[in-house]
Amino acid sequence: MIKIEPEFEINFDILFIGAGIASISAAYYLKQLINQYNQENKNKLNNITIGIFEKSKAVGDHILSGAVLEPKILDEFIPAWENSNIPVKIKVSQDNMYFLNSKGQIPFPVIPPGMNNHGNYIISLSELLKWLSNECEKMGVEIYTSEPIKDLIYSKEGKVIGVKTGEKSLDKEAKKKANFSPGAEIGIKILAAGEGSYGFITKKLINKYNLNQNRESQSYVTGIKELWEITPENFSKGEVIHTFGYPLDFKTFGGGFFYHFKDNLAALGLAIGLNYENPKLNLQEELQKFKTHPLINKILSKAKLIEYGAKTISEGGYYSIGKLSGEGFILIGEGAGLLNSQKLKGIHLAIKSGILAAETIFEALKLNDFSLDQLSKYDQKIKESWIFKELHAVRNFHQGFQKGLIPGMIHTGLQMFTGGRGLINKFKTQEDYRHLKKISEYSSKNKEFTPDGKITFDRLTEIYFSGVKHEEDQPCHLKIKDLNICINRCHEEFGNPCTLFCPAKVYEFENKEGLIINPSNCLHCKTCEIKDPYNIIEWTPPEGGGGPNYKNM
Ligand code: SF4
Repeated sequence: MIKIEPEFEINFDILFIGAGIASISAAYYLKQLINQYNQENKNKLNNITIGIFEKSKAVGDHILSGAVLEPKILDEFIPAWENSNIPVKIKVSQDNMYFLNSKGQIPFPVIPPGMNNHGNYIISLSELLKWLSNECEKMGVEIYTSEPIKDLIYSKEGKVIGVKTGEKSLDKEAKKKANFSPGAEIGIKILAAGEGSYGFITKKLINKYNLNQNRESQSYVTGIKELWEITPENFSKGEVIHTFGYPLDFKTFGGGFFYHFKDNLAALGLAIGLNYENPKLNLQEELQKFKTHPLINKILSKAKLIEYGAKTISEGGYYSIGKLSGEGFILIGEGAGLLNSQKLKGIHLAIKSGILAAETIFEALKLNDFSLDQLSKYDQKIKESWIFKELHAVRNFHQGFQKGLIPGMIHTGLQMFTGGRGLINKFKTQEDYRHLKKISEYSSKNKEFTPDGKITFDRLTEIYFSGVKHEEDQPCHLKIKDLNICINRCHEEFGNPCTLFCPAKVYEFENKEGLIINPSNCLHCKTCEIKDPYNIIEWTPPEGGGGPNYKNM
């Protein structure tokens, strides 16, 4: 922690961390509120500076999502969106849900209301973000890319009063290179953290201010996604497929998706609950098996892989959401835990939290009051909005699957008739890494899988399709607290599961050398930080601009 007096060369009234959908929506809405106020009032809110700091090279480069969007939020956010050129054009034309076994599928006769996609749109979130960020910049929002935020600056009283951006040009040993540039210290009135799942700064804020006291642990899934160009005869624009079952066993939570998007592009993927038990589970390999299922395999005949990527998704929901504001800051979007686990959707909630954050900040600016009392109104707004109503109705969905697929299905059915309650009103949850079994405790054998190089691939082939790139000569951004644990205890007890669950093969184990880390392959998904059984890995932001380079994910 850095403590200095509030004197900064660079200052922003409002600073957002992460150019994700929550931050961009909040900045967009806030600018509109300010512009409208200034048109209608003599006492103007002049020279309000709004900055967004993003670690990727360009907005959207690190963004990956399914994605099916509920347009009701756009009606609230951009009322004339249907007549604009916003990239939300592909309406869901068919909505199918199947239970898969290894050879065939059983269609769900009725899709549960919460999972129905009728009236929704298939989008590319990175494309939507690029559009919205352009609109923000036209209104004067300043967006800085390749600028990760590495630390917070506090006042003597413990209030967040600034941030520190990352240093540039340190070598592997953290020594300064010739073109070294130190990070900048930036003063702020309000900080809004919109970093997405398991955010680096969000974690610091949650821990320092004990925001999650008496809340259930957050739960996560890792979503692994691919984008394919499929042949016109196999393409069915707007069709959505969701699956349960194969390739996941009955104990592992998760499901697959296949969305026919636009221009013969199809998005497919598998989301796997990180509370799984199997120490030998290879998440990327599970996605490969999913593609071998006849339902998917036949669509991919003669198709071409375009992109690959992964991210974690915060699924804990209602009972995991802690306090969302503190001294000088607010938390927005998925980083705040705002995600509907039953729908596996968070974009509409992130936008709504952005709108409510903008309203709170706007009030604070008008009153020139940036106190905790003022910022706490954001918590109240979230609780009174449809966000909490929606999350309360699915409060036990993810947790209902803790004992496996069949009990989970039964719970889901019961929850439909009990307003989301099911058999137990509040499931106790523990951190995902605590669910992993030791090799000696886990009996099922994993069958060896060999990719065919046409539809299925190994991890090293796939990461090429993520466009991932990092400066090689920089300190490793994956910090392991005690390598001895990896080499001795973990190797013996769990078989180094990081070498399998990491979707980018960042970790490898060699008998002679021990654990080898290839940080340049990292997709910034955070799976390792969440699932490592000893909880000793910390993901930190690498030098600005490094990471995947998603185009349409
Ligand atoms: Fe994800 Fe960790 Fe692998 Fe990076 S090293 S891709 S954060 S699991």
